[in-house]
Amino acid sequence: MENRRDKRKSPVLYLVLPCYNEEAVLPVSIPMFLEKLEEMLFHGKIDQESRILLVDDGSRDRTWELICQMAEKDCRCIGIRQSRNRGHQNAILAGMMEARKLADAVITADCDGQDDMAAMEEMVDAYLDGCDIVYGVRRSRELDTGFKRMTAEGFYRLMKLLGAETVYNHADYRLVSRQVLEELEHYQEVNLYLRGLFPLIGFKSTTVLYDRKARIAGETHYPLRKMIGLAIDGITSLSVKPLHLIAGFGLGVSLLSMLGIIWSVYEYFRNATIPGWSSTICIICFLSGVQLISIGILGEYLGKTYMEVKKRPRYIISERTGGKEEGPV
Ligand code: UDP
Ligand code: MG
Repeated sequence: MENRRDKRKSPVLYLVLPCYNEEAVLPVSIPMFLEKLEEMLFHGKIDQESRILLVDDGSRDRTWELICQMAEKDCRCIGIRQSRNRGHQNAILAGMMEARKLADAVITADCDGQDDMAAMEEMVDAYLDGCDIVYGVRRSRELDTGFKRMTAEGFYRLMKLLGAETVYNHADYRLVSRQVLEELEHYQEVNLYLRGLFPLIGFKSTTVLYDRKARIAGETHYPLRKMIGLAIDGITSLSVKPLHLIAGFGLGVSLLSMLGIIWSVYEYFRNATIPGWSSTICIICFLSGVQLISIGILGEYLGKTYMEVKKRPRYIISERTGGKEEGPV
């Protein structure tokens, strides 16, 4: 039987581009994005209602002014402005939520032209083939400094070790369908790490390889401090394994403490100790074991509470027989 989603029509595509203090970049990059949009339209890949949605993330330079000018000049450009700077992840979320009622699919990318635009058409092709999430994956990290490459790759490995599902070398360059955006809306968490949420949402997905280029102009807004912050957000929002580790550590220390107690009693009976030593060691060993186990137990409950308060959906239905969009009401 033919799948309903194999017959997709060319989507209304929205390119969601977060912009923070990008006055030097936008005049160069937006015409390039528009050209790409035109090209995809010409190839019959997207609908003519497709747009570029620029999200000004509370810039302090002329970014918003430029966005307004572009929107006036070209109806394919739309802008929204956040009331203040809230960070890259929230800017993307704002753009995706704004676009979800208007677009069939959304591609998020850096507005600085770093994410190779050639990959967009491949992403749309994958969408037309029935994929709901298309992850842009970096082909190599040649442009990065040795330090950045090492920390980034180490981070992906650590995430895997901690049981958090992420796509290796994928950041925020991706296509998602409207159906996925509607599900994303149910993820109400404030500690936002989008690249970890999409694998949780599920649906048919694939990857597209692309080359990461140098910035067109301006400077990165991701200094080491922010990168570490994002990494910590990623780990803590997806995994409670660090809390389990404390519990395991507590158990290990308790076992060692038992050995410590046996050893101190043995030394006592050998008369090899000064008065008070054995009792002090016993108390220290016993209490430190008890304390760590107690913290571990608290951690287990804290981890459960943390996951509960997120109120993530417990199930997501991707399709129904008979092509129905909604279940019974
Ligand atoms: N950005 C944003 N808000 C911020 C920081 C960055 O909207 O607080 C945007 C920025 O304009 C760019 C994208 O997020 O389009 C990625 O930032 P950047 O290019 O500085 O990071 P890098 O590519 O160097 O990691
Ligand atoms: Mg960038």
